[in-house]
Amino acid sequence: MSEPLPPTTLTCAQALTAARALGLERLDAQLLLLHALGKPGADRAWLLTHDTMPLPQETARWFQELNLRRAAGEPLAYLVGSKEFFGLELQVDGRVLVPRPDTETLVEWALQQLAQAGMPASARVLDLGTGSGAIALALKKSRPVIDVTAVDASSDALAVAAANARQHQLPVHFLQSNWFENVSGLFNLIVSNPPYVADADPHLPALRHEPLQALTAGKDGLSDLRQIIDQAPTYLQPQGWLLLEHGYDQARAVRELLEQRGFAEVQSRADLAGIPRCSGGRWPDPAAGTGSQTAG
Ligand code: GLN
Repeated sequence: MSEPLPPTTLTCAQALTAARALGLERLDAQLLLLHALGKPGADRAWLLTHDTMPLPQETARWFQELNLRRAAGEPLAYLVGSKEFFGLELQVDGRVLVPRPDTETLVEWALQQLAQAGMPASARVLDLGTGSGAIALALKKSRPVIDVTAVDASSDALAVAAANARQHQLPVHFLQSNWFENVSGLFNLIVSNPPYVADADPHLPALRHEPLQALTAGKDGLSDLRQIIDQAPTYLQPQGWLLLEHGYDQARAVRELLEQRGFAEVQSRADLAGIPRCSGGRWPDPAAGTGSQTAG
């Protein structure tokens, strides 16, 4: 083992000022400095009381490298290796999309549906395109008796999701599948945050560090949503729900697709910014004679 390098003359406060000069947000700079110091993000108060502490050389060097990567647009979550979602600390890296707070809207809606009369306690739930496992694990954590299957087309993503499930001791079935390709059986609830960004969307350069196949979906961003809506009825119990996240301007199009396919009670839910971010519907029970499904 080599001797630790001697401290620099750079103090915590000076290092944070230098990071701000590179264009970093104050919070990002604080979280990266804590990470470089091997401290949890919850320790921000520690920084305030250690303004004048000189940084060890290796910490200063690593902090500088993290700052440059953040300034070049790498998501903070990749740099610190984790992201909090629905109260769960999830490990993330460039193999998966960073979980967004917007997606908590989908989890909350799914939990409401799971609590509704008529939904079995041990409901079967399918998460399509699980990525880091965020939705599947948040649901399993909130309602341990449900039976959750999470699929992704990417074996890399499944490795990340399975590691998160192990870490939080949340038993979820993982399956490599391109949407429903390798899925069998019937589910009471299907949820998905699929790729929904249009191929030529001007926001894509800002998302260049995240896996493109988790983001883009054809010319209008709807190609995966279309495929899921088209195939989901084959895998839904009568009265089962399909809930989908989509882009800020896709709610009407997704509701139309759901209605055309024969879903009932089609509706949308807004995210924290008030944008209709999720849409879904109930697959009617043919025996009950409800719903608007047409023959064929
Ligand atoms: N919400 C993400 C974004 O616009 C996209 C996620 C997705 O395509 N599912 O940054």
